[in-house]
Amino acid sequence: MATTAKIPRLQQLHSTFFEAKELGVYMLRLDEIHPLVSGNKWYKLKYVIDAMKQSGKSSLLTFGGAYSNHLLATAAFAKENGFKSIGVIRGIHGSIKETSTITNCRALGMDLQFISRASYGQKEERDFLTDLQQKYPDAFLLPEGGANTSGQRGAAEIADFIPEDTSLVCLPVGTGTTLIGIRKALAIDIPILGFTAMKGGTYLQVVMDEHLSKFQQRAYALMTEYSYGGFGKRSPSLLSYMKNFQETHDIRLDLVYTAKMMMGMDDLAVQDFFPKGSKIVAIHTGGLQGNPPGY
Ligand SMILES: *Cc1c(COP(=O)(O)O)cnc(C)c1O
Repeated sequence: MATTAKIPRLQQLHSTFFEAKELGVYMLRLDEIHPLVSGNKWYKLKYVIDAMKQSGKSSLLTFGGAYSNHLLATAAFAKENGFKSIGVIRGIHGSIKETSTITNCRALGMDLQFISRASYGQKEERDFLTDLQQKYPDAFLLPEGGANTSGQRGAAEIADFIPEDTSLVCLPVGTGTTLIGIRKALAIDIPILGFTAMKGGTYLQVVMDEHLSKFQQRAYALMTEYSYGGFGKRSPSLLSYMKNFQETHDIRLDLVYTAKMMMGMDDLAVQDFFPKGSKIVAIHTGGLQGNPPGY
């Protein structure tokens, strides 16, 4: 495979708050590994090529909204590896904003298909997928967010960067593919805490339990109360948190996922949820491309 990425670094977050709580907090900087195939997306896409080849397809079709990190990562990944990509976008062209995500996908050679929100809602239904496959016979259909087994397989490799003496891993959750992948590979005595980015994220528990049921101890939990207004919502408290975090740690967070995780972790630390002396690894899953200007 042509795509390569850097080894992510593990950076300690120094703050008087974490020190007072006697917590060692480290950030795994997946946001730095690749300029466009950012964060967890690089791992989730890595083995898609194998799946494409196995099914005899030569291009990659996937789905996303106008700010989707997954869509941009897929466009960049396809270009780097020399195949065509097609992006099915939620929202009719002209009625949704031409975001920089959309502009950049197009610039990377992605063929864009805009569909109504109603049609987009059917994107997992069989008739819809059959029609799409007929329209693009050479395309491998990759679910939104790269949520398939090759996505899990790639995400599992993130576990290699988590030190053995870690007490707890925190990461943001969209489809849950990254959490499932890491959970399958990580030592079972290291629990994982996932922070869901959308409102009402509890339904994900069912999806994840299904994937992870063969583990005797589930050793993970979802925090669903830190969505700050819901998926992609620009809550003022989130935006000011991002500014503060950047000033304190010189690290940019993204609005949709990692800022919620860090705000949630702070809140849990205030409540003394983490035992003193814990060594916590928080995964920076990237996604900075979708931030509002100035963040
Ligand atoms: C896509 C994305 C996630 C969600 O990953 P899942 O595997 O779908 O749970 C988390 N963080 C960022 C920055 C993302 O872009």
